[in-house]
Amino acid sequence: MGLEAEATVRELRAAYTTGKTKSFEWRASQLKATQKILTLHSDQIIQALRSDLKKPEFEAVIHEICVISASCKLALKELHRWMKPQKVKTSLISFPSSATIVSEPLGLVLVISAWNFPFALSLDPVVGAIAAGNAVVLKPSESAPTTSSLLAKLVEKYMDTSAVKVVEGAVAQTTALLHQKWDKIFYTGGSEVGRIVLNCAAKHLTPVVLELGGKCPAVLDSNINLKVAARRIIAGKWGRNNGQACISPDYIITTKHFVSQLVNIMSVELEKFFGKEPLQSKELSGIINTHHFNRLVKLLDDAQVSGKIVCGGERDVSNLKMAPTIILDVSRDSIAMDEEIFGPILPILTVDKIEECFGVINGKEKPLAAYLFTNDKKLEEKFVRNISAGGIIINDTILHFLEPGLPFGGIGESGMGAYHGKFSFDAFSHKKPVLKRGFAIDISTRYPPYTPGKRRFL
Ligand code: NAD
Repeated sequence: MGLEAEATVRELRAAYTTGKTKSFEWRASQLKATQKILTLHSDQIIQALRSDLKKPEFEAVIHEICVISASCKLALKELHRWMKPQKVKTSLISFPSSATIVSEPLGLVLVISAWNFPFALSLDPVVGAIAAGNAVVLKPSESAPTTSSLLAKLVEKYMDTSAVKVVEGAVAQTTALLHQKWDKIFYTGGSEVGRIVLNCAAKHLTPVVLELGGKCPAVLDSNINLKVAARRIIAGKWGRNNGQACISPDYIITTKHFVSQLVNIMSVELEKFFGKEPLQSKELSGIINTHHFNRLVKLLDDAQVSGKIVCGGERDVSNLKMAPTIILDVSRDSIAMDEEIFGPILPILTVDKIEECFGVINGKEKPLAAYLFTNDKKLEEKFVRNISAGGIIINDTILHFLEPGLPFGGIGESGMGAYHGKFSFDAFSHKKPVLKRGFAIDISTRYPPYTPGKRRFL
């Protein structure tokens, strides 16, 4: 396995060394090839996502295919501008001079992706790597095997396989890849493996982007349009892979006097979205595998020691389906309030005053996203100032992920580095400063001997 990984790296590095991936034409051709995959094979992609995750077609199109389509479109539109050296003003220190920042590809990069959005989380970083002129190896998640093998097939058919390659496999293959020398590693997944990635990268001083997870809080103040807030939370939690998303609201914080209204309206809206029998709903993704199903059952059983289910709770192990489940009064020591839930269970914590949310959130690791629903400007400002998170949304969930003008990434335990839009291009580029001087003016102050007259300039 190690030999195969070594051979892959040797082959792709040789392709990178020819310089072909650096040209505008190569980058544009590979971005167009990616677009071709999307347009010619959308049905197969939708089917693969259904097979791996029972992902509803609408979610497959919006959250996976459209995301990559938008990234390719933007990169193709902006590529000339992104690649152009950026002029920078110079100071008296180097007078007279001119300066530019040149975006240089890093070389050969490794993208390791996760199973929950197995198509988008694989190709989105690849689009950034190609746009920036790199050769790239993609290792999709083995937990979404149908999507992984489809990606391998389509990349081989449409892309320049001398410089863009998919390596399929599980821990052994990923480990073999991680032991090679890369110019950047872009990893999406859990923080435990994130640490393994960082350790392997350290050996070669390889820079990394780690797109990890965490417990994303949603804080609900009482002065809000409750119905709209409830719908937006439901869309962000269960309308996105049935809670198996890194930026799904992981738990809610609201006040004690407001919680029963909140539970009522969420239950009503949930029934409107997923019907009276959510396990039969075609609009809800399944749980990825038995391991995660059992993990969620254990988490729910533990949460019920202190808390009570106020909505949902149904499950069907034979189909790996689990209903949207709201649980109230869970102990703050429970698994549900300690670990990332990454599934359809949503605990609600109640507090006397909404300002107590700061203590709760800041008592945990920095989340990938934090959501606040309020009409109180002062609370909003305090939230943005005092909550450190990968990203913040006021009065909605998830949407920052889809805004190409915003960097997407974590902080602390939720990750390092960011991508999306131009930030993807930057994540895979070295910003090389180039300063240029002429020979005409040569001020001698900087040259020895450092006479007292020259010291006056200090
Ligand atoms: P996963 O099991 O698919 O693992 C991710 C990748 O790591 C896979 O490609 C897998 O092959 C590799 N891997 C697994 N074990 C390994 C090991 N021991 N050594 C080397 N490589 C190994 O995905 P996961 O970790 O279950 O993903 C869920 C986590 O990912 C959650 O925490 C979630 O929040 C996070 N996530 C983050 C983002 C983001 O954009 N920040 C997106 C999706 C998921």
